[in-house]
Order: sequence, then structure tokens, then C-alpha cells
Amino acid sequence: MPVQLADDWQPDSWRARPGLQMPRYADAEALAVVQEELRALPPLVTSWEILALKQQIAEAQDGKRFLLQGGECAENFADCTSEVISNRLKVLLQMSLVLVHGLRLPVVRVGRFAGQYAKPRSTDTETRDGVTLPSYRGDMINGPAFTTQDRAPDPRRMVKAHARSALTMNFTRSLIDGGFADLHHPEYWNLGWMGHSPLAAEYQHMVASIGDAVRFMETLSGSEVHNLNRVDFYTSHEALLLPYEEAFTRQVPRQWGWFNLSTHFPWIGMRTAALDGAHVEYFRGIRNPIAVKVGPTVTPDQLMRLIDVLNPHDEPGRLGLIHRMGDREIADKLPPLLDAVKREGRRVLWICDAMHGNTESTSNGYKTRRFERIRNELEQAFDLHAAAGTRLGGVHLELTGEDVTECIGGARELTEVDLGRAYRSAVDPRLNYEQALEIAIAIVRKQGS
Ligand code: PEP
Ligand code: MN
Repeated sequence: MPVQLADDWQPDSWRARPGLQMPRYADAEALAVVQEELRALPPLVTSWEILALKQQIAEAQDGKRFLLQGGECAENFADCTSEVISNRLKVLLQMSLVLVHGLRLPVVRVGRFAGQYAKPRSTDTETRDGVTLPSYRGDMINGPAFTTQDRAPDPRRMVKAHARSALTMNFTRSLIDGGFADLHHPEYWNLGWMGHSPLAAEYQHMVASIGDAVRFMETLSGSEVHNLNRVDFYTSHEALLLPYEEAFTRQVPRQWGWFNLSTHFPWIGMRTAALDGAHVEYFRGIRNPIAVKVGPTVTPDQLMRLIDVLNPHDEPGRLGLIHRMGDREIADKLPPLLDAVKREGRRVLWICDAMHGNTESTSNGYKTRRFERIRNELEQAFDLHAAAGTRLGGVHLELTGEDVTECIGGARELTEVDLGRAYRSAVDPRLNYEQALEIAIAIVRKQGS
């Protein structure tokens, strides 16, 4: 496999490039102290896990797996609670069960959590009642309250973000290792709403038939089926705040090169994917599997140059492309990109983010997304890939295990008026548990039959 060190690269070589979407810290000394402190702290993941995920992504590229990537738009420090963490894990496990059952493929599970604390914003400042302050950029950078103190970027927040990520990771790993994710016991993942949901019967039917299949295999083999009592779960976040990512970029014994040990599968956001920018420079030198968000303004030529920089040796499992076009643009914008990548014979994992091209504002002032548009983009994505002779190998979704009302529509037909009831996101609107499961069922209906 042709793999080697990137030329002229160092964990800090991004500093010579334009760094978009990052705060300017007023106190450079305080920033340096924090980086030093972070460099001495243990990492959040290991190189073994990173390479295992890379192998799974390579298999997904070959059509042998499907990737489910989901979680928060922005985690926040206050929501680092046992309930939020376990409910989010439950809904992701339920979705993956639906996908495994319906697609008849193993699912690669990747959370958008344990580090998703830094956000790109469309404007640098926000004005309210004549007062202008820096925009909120995620709890790792500043605070959400509209006060001078909260909105000032504070490097010490990085230390807290590392600690909260470690707590999230620790609890998630403990749940999984303790048997929470055991396929013999999908009832562990039931959420309170299951009993009265319009989707409950369909979901329970899938649970029952998976249970039957497991028991059948165990009867045949006369023993427990391996690996059903433990699933792999990986983490991802947008690696936006490069001083933080740099501090976790490390060499490990008996491995060549550099790993980002703050997460398994970091991605480059749409707003920071410039070819000559700091983020692309940073990403090209780490050995993790990585992904890039691809929006509707990217041309085939730009995309091919990005692929050349980020995966020059066409390494399997290295690169995911997360397209986020919106349901009105995908039919125009995606096919030329699919054709170009196919023509050049480049190995990528195509993933559809059906959230970020479908954000709108309601007349009563909420940022929302319509369930129908999200589903519509996903369904078109499957068809467009089929027509191009490429494969959609995964989905990327913003969701929560809580009973929020942030996206409109779905089985319970939430309306604009419902948004006021439980709108909790500080940034983008997420699918609630029921809408998330409904998306998984929609994927299976589209693809599995
Ligand atoms: C996000 O994933 O929350 C995000 C900001 O996405 P994008 O970079 O695609 O706009
Ligand atoms: Mn978002």
C-alpha cells in the first residue's frame, strides 16, 4: 500500500497559511500555556482504533459496509450529562440496527461527539439592540450568552473541552463495554417515547426479526455468536480550532508519521476547505481517515485538486467526501463531481449530509429544517449515485436523543408553532429521536428492498 510521510509537513506548518474561522486570542501567552498543558495530557483515542476505522472505511468504499455518522451540531459543556450521552447513543444504536437489518450490511458507527465544540459561523459578529459582539463559535472558543465576557475567546476553554470530551468518551466506552450495545438486548436502547410512536410497530418488528436471526445462528453453531454483544463506536468532529488539534497531533511508538489523537475521524468544514488554506495543510499530514464537506459551489476541478492534496497516493480508507448540496441543488451540482471522481478512478467514500443544505428561517424567527427536504435530498442522493455508477456509502446527520422540536415535519408532523416548545440547539436544528429513526427507516425503504 503506497503510504508515506507528507512532504514538508509539520504539525504546525498550517500556521504559514490563511486560517479561516479561528478566533484571534488577545493573550498569546495564555494560548501558549494552554497548548503546553494540552500537549502533556493523555489523548482521547489511540492509533490502533484510528487504523481499525480506516480499514472499516476502506471496506465501506468497497461496498461492504455502510457508514452512519451522526450527533450534535454543537456539543455544549452543560449537556455533558449521563442522560444526554446515553440517549444519543441509544438513538444511534437504534438507527444502526434498522440499517443493518434493512441494508444487510455491517454499519460503521461514527458519532459527532466527544469533541464537537468549535463552530464555523457565517458572520464574525452579531448585533442585538445596537450592541455588536463576536459571534458564538462553540463552547471550546467562547460562550453563548450575549455578554462581552462570554463572547470573548478564551483559550482555557480548550482544556475544559478536552476534559468534557474525555468524560463523554469514557461514559460511552463504559456503556458499550458493559453490554449496553448488545444485539441480544436491543430493549436496553428503548426510549420513553417508543410506546406511543407511529413508528414503534415497524421498529419492534425489525428488533424481533434480528432477535430471531441471532437465535437461529446461535442454534446452528451451538454457541453464542461472536461480536454481537459488543459494537465498535468511533468519534468525529470538525477539526476547526487548529491550536487544539495541533496539541493532540502526536507520534506513537512503533508507528510512522503523525496521528490526530483527539478523535478518530476529523473532518474539514465547507467554509475552511480552501486548497491553500490552513485546514487543508494541517489535514494532509495526519494519518487518520479524514473527510471534507463538499458544498454546491465546488467545481469538479477544485474537488480533484483537493483529493490530490489530501490523498495523493489513493490510500484505501483515507478520504470521505461529505456532500451537502440541499434538496434543490443536488440534482444539478452532484453529478459532475461524481463523474469527475469516477473518471479519474479515485477512491473515496461518498457520504450524504442531508442537513446543511436545507436550513431555513421561519417567520417566527427559528432556524429550522424540513423533514421532507432532508429525506428528499437523501433519496435523490441514492438515485444520483446509482445513475453515475458510484456508491453512496454513508449518511451524515445532526440529531439528538432528546425530545426536541427543532426540525419541522416527520411522523408527528411538527409545525412552525411547535418549534417554540422545545428548541434547545444553540446553533443548527437537529432531528429529534423519532425523526432520526424515521430517516433510518426511509433509507432502508429506499435502498434495502
Ligand atoms: C456542520 O457540520 O455543523 C457544519 C457547519 O457544516 P458545513 O461545514 O457543511 O456547513
Ligand atoms: Mn451544523
